[in-house]
Amino acid sequence: MLDALDIEVHGVVQGVGFRPFVYKAARRNLISGWVLNATSGVFIHAEGESDHVNSFVMELSENAPAAANVKEILLKEVPLEGFTTFEIRFSEEEDVPETTLVSPDLATCDDCVAELFDPANRRYHYPFINCTNCGPRFTIINGLPYDRAATSMAGFPMCPDCAREYADPEDRRFHAQPDACFDCGPHIYWRASGSDEREWGLDLASSDAIVERAAQCLRQGRILAIKGLGGFHLACDAANPEALAELRRRKRREGKAFAVMVPNLDAVRAVCHVSKAEEDLLTGSVRPIVLLKKRAEATFAPGLCDKLPELGIMLPYTPLQHLLLAAFGGMLVMTSGNLHDEPIQTDDEEAFAKLGGIADAFIGNDRPIVTRFDDSVVRVIQVGTAGDALQMVRRARGYAPMPVPLKRHAAEGQKLDTVFAAGPEQKNTFCLLRGEDAFVSQHIGDMENAETFDAWLDAKARFERLFQATPDRIAYDLHPEYLASKWALEQAAAGAAAEPVQHHHAHIVSVMAENDLTDAVIGVAFDGTGYGVDGRIWGGEVMMANRQDFERFANFAYVPMPGGAAAVKHPDRMAYGFLWTYDLLEHPAAQPMLEAMGQQAELCGTMIDRGLNTPMTSSVGRMFDALSAICGVCTEPLYEGEAAILFEAAMNGVQTDEAYAIDVVKNTAGEGSTAHNTSVVLFDAEPLFRGVLDDLAAGVGVETISAKAHNALVAAVLQICLVANAAYGVSTVALAGGVFMNRYLIEHTTAALESAGFTIAINRELPPNDGGIAYGQAAAAAARQ
Ligand SMILES: [Zn+2]
Ligand SMILES: [Zn+2]
Repeated sequence: MLDALDIEVHGVVQGVGFRPFVYKAARRNLISGWVLNATSGVFIHAEGESDHVNSFVMELSENAPAAANVKEILLKEVPLEGFTTFEIRFSEEEDVPETTLVSPDLATCDDCVAELFDPANRRYHYPFINCTNCGPRFTIINGLPYDRAATSMAGFPMCPDCAREYADPEDRRFHAQPDACFDCGPHIYWRASGSDEREWGLDLASSDAIVERAAQCLRQGRILAIKGLGGFHLACDAANPEALAELRRRKRREGKAFAVMVPNLDAVRAVCHVSKAEEDLLTGSVRPIVLLKKRAEATFAPGLCDKLPELGIMLPYTPLQHLLLAAFGGMLVMTSGNLHDEPIQTDDEEAFAKLGGIADAFIGNDRPIVTRFDDSVVRVIQVGTAGDALQMVRRARGYAPMPVPLKRHAAEGQKLDTVFAAGPEQKNTFCLLRGEDAFVSQHIGDMENAETFDAWLDAKARFERLFQATPDRIAYDLHPEYLASKWALEQAAAGAAAEPVQHHHAHIVSVMAENDLTDAVIGVAFDGTGYGVDGRIWGGEVMMANRQDFERFANFAYVPMPGGAAAVKHPDRMAYGFLWTYDLLEHPAAQPMLEAMGQQAELCGTMIDRGLNTPMTSSVGRMFDALSAICGVCTEPLYEGEAAILFEAAMNGVQTDEAYAIDVVKNTAGEGSTAHNTSVVLFDAEPLFRGVLDDLAAGVGVETISAKAHNALVAAVLQICLVANAAYGVSTVALAGGVFMNRYLIEHTTAALESAGFTIAINRELPPNDGGIAYGQAAAAAARQ
């Protein structure tokens, strides 16, 4: 019996080899009809024996190309039209309301890598080899539908050979928009810093010469700026301490570990432990930086990743990187090519001007980068019985702008407002919510200067244009001084519908929406800094939350932050605030730190006494900073979060069930008191700090002290969840906030809560840190609609 079906495929189906896949599947299953790319998806008309039609449809969902993300397949029976062949049709641009989804950039596939190193292939050593399954996508797209003319490949007309492949449905480069070769495509060039001259690699010999020269420079300890997919990298020999020190000096990047790139998986295994899940991440089509546990027996050059148990490592994901790593042979630092605190550089001339003081030479090319993207950073954590879970640290290349699902649960027939969420100050991303697709931007960075704010405005305009979404309402962080909030308030003053979402509520709602939770949860938000509804600095909050709103149920009792923001940069001042609060300044074990502070200690005392520039905070991030300082682990952090990170690292694998106490007490503070809190219950960390000091005085090692402090926090979370459960009957716990980037804490807290019968929810595709805030803001604003 003959059947005819109209099929609509929605999802990420453009730029991922989907049409050739459909074509081949149709031929295999003896299907006639046609396939058509439209802005809203892929349309297919299929005719054939009903068995064949069925297996064809099965294949569409089961065997789709790895990089495709099929969201739905709609089928409709239609009359037979009597087609005898299967053809690929080309649409005139039609009027369709929703655009299809845009693929993120894809790492060079194995087939292309094989050709890249095959001397008989016409693209042998061509630094821009790609196919329908791999290559740049979002970073070269100017508009939709995804077509060469709408990309930064528009200036490279194809040679006859490439054009033949491009037009042949049987070829693996059929409609590969960035397809190119030495004859017709982009080329790399070499330019020494301070020189105006570009030496082009227009053919195999001259291109190879540049790669060889680069490898040689790197071996000599020089620093190179190398143009990649979403911007420039700064590269140097990761085994050369002088090169590392020089890069740090020039880039003004002191302590933070560098990410590295190695040629292959064996090179990763030589220095780090790699699980199957981690292996898949390293070798997949995204190829993020994966944070891996360093092998105890491996040696690393001083200055690469000192003091930390993990190293950020990635495998090559562009043809040029494959060539360079093969020529160099070892481990390269590959860090974002930006000036301190500024966005990554994308434009060749600008990069040359800005990075000229850092890099000795540049490898640029003539394929423009349309949008800037940093490398993504991920790791694998263990979450209760679920086991391996991805923890996103920085979501950018390879992930964005793939939409994160966000179920709206709206009333039948209700029009869903399009929401623009401006995001936070640090690790900013924004979120454009259209229907049930949340387009979370790539990592933009810390919105603390005009360059980053401009990058934010650029990316925002681009998202609105590409995804054809005009916001009906704006969501923003309560903090009045954040640049993104100021922008939102200006829009509101001009008449836009705009509403604030409290920082930690946004964290919790991000978890709720990612896990499609609609009932109330116990939200545990442990974080560095977030503006509270009482104007204080929150960061140790337990809230009874739904998506619209929350009630602050418990928090860490406020402590003073002498000097405000300065206390973040100086954990010993923060420690002073804790010791003052708990009346522990006289404790013998506190004296070494206080003596080292000298006059600073006295100044802190004066500021607290007079209430000068001394905001109050409930932040757990700050508590870890303080513990780090008191234990002598870190008093002068070189980058944001270092004190807390090193305090976790100080455990050094020590296992103990012992814990300090954190009391859970009824909140009795009144309106007029500086300790006034809005919660019903307070965490009192006095016994924790006293226990730490007593142990220090007794000569207990910092490994054990750190472990006992971590256990104290795990126990406190469990206890407060039991209390909240008894009071409200809620048994789902959402955990979020930057503090849960602490591996020990997230792994042990989820295990403890699960053992006690709680259902755990954590972020899945988004980071638990502030990179996930915008999505939470959008979800909260959408829920309030
Ligand atoms: Zn390929
Ligand atoms: Zn060509």
